[in-house]
Amino acid sequence: MKTRQDWFKILLTAVIFLVSISGITYAQQLSKSTIEAAVKEAYDKFKNVSEGKNADYIPALAEVNPNIFGISVVTADGDVIEFGDINDMVSMQSIEKVFAMAMVIDELGADALKEKVGVDATGMKFNAIEPIEWKKGKEINPCVNPGALATTSLIKGANYDEKWNNIITKYSEFAGRDLTVNQPVYESEAATNQRNQALAWLLFAYERMYFDPVQTTDIYTKACAINVNAKDLGMMAATLCNGGVNPVTGKTVVSPETVEHVLAVMVTAGLYDDSGIWIYDTGMPGKSGVGGGIIAVAPGKLGIGVISPPLDDVGNSVKAQYVIKYLSEKLGLNMYSVQPKN
Ligand code: GLN
Repeated sequence: MKTRQDWFKILLTAVIFLVSISGITYAQQLSKSTIEAAVKEAYDKFKNVSEGKNADYIPALAEVNPNIFGISVVTADGDVIEFGDINDMVSMQSIEKVFAMAMVIDELGADALKEKVGVDATGMKFNAIEPIEWKKGKEINPCVNPGALATTSLIKGANYDEKWNNIITKYSEFAGRDLTVNQPVYESEAATNQRNQALAWLLFAYERMYFDPVQTTDIYTKACAINVNAKDLGMMAATLCNGGVNPVTGKTVVSPETVEHVLAVMVTAGLYDDSGIWIYDTGMPGKSGVGGGIIAVAPGKLGIGVISPPLDDVGNSVKAQYVIKYLSEKLGLNMYSVQPKN
């Protein structure tokens, strides 16, 4: 026989249960099915966009299938949502700059990157040489080529092989699988990267290159040629969204403090000279690469990876920008969005 007290306890437990369920539902407003629906809508809405053109200053990139179109969203809880050409791979290109920067901040500290490289936007094309000359190699941004070359020269390792092994190991931890290099893209860029070599030598002349400039340029070129599919990019972005812990493997890749600084630098120059427009439109730190990929991070929520090779004049994938802007609005991902208290 249940007493009144028993019934009261049962009622109380039921109320607590219902309140906590509604709390969980509230916290998980971005359910997997909501994201899936938005990703599919974005895919359908933009699949026929025909603006833009593959990069061709690296000859092998001109030959990549321009119709590849893959979208992936990975949440901080480890849900993976993919749509489109999710198995097709492109080279990371400039997206790798984010992860080189993360390694250097994690290893040497935030001040070291700020002082030895710089974190201010150049506001110029990603491979412009003028910013080095103007500032005598100082205040260059890790998200554009001169800053990325200086950053690469700071990667831990006594020699080329050690540095490279550290890079490929760390990037693979971000992605949660073993990444490899697209050899034809690497060879194609290595044969045509005289401009990047010039940037590295000019930095060297200003004592802002911290390892051999020829080897540094080669390591950078090889890192740019690492192959990724949309899911890899989504997973790498999600590791950043989750404070440096890969949400699927559970591995701590970099510290939460490192991620704070990485995301800030992405805001300043992740989409090169269009970074202002990008953050204005999406409210999400992003990074593009001339291979056709873009990543975007909604801190604490999710990471997005989109691949579509045709680029605009600045060097950013046209379709990937449309998709991410759409998802930001549809899913409320703008990190500056605040609900008034009353
Ligand atoms: N590897 C390319 C370069 O250095 C990367 C540029 C990019 O993606 N914007 O030119």
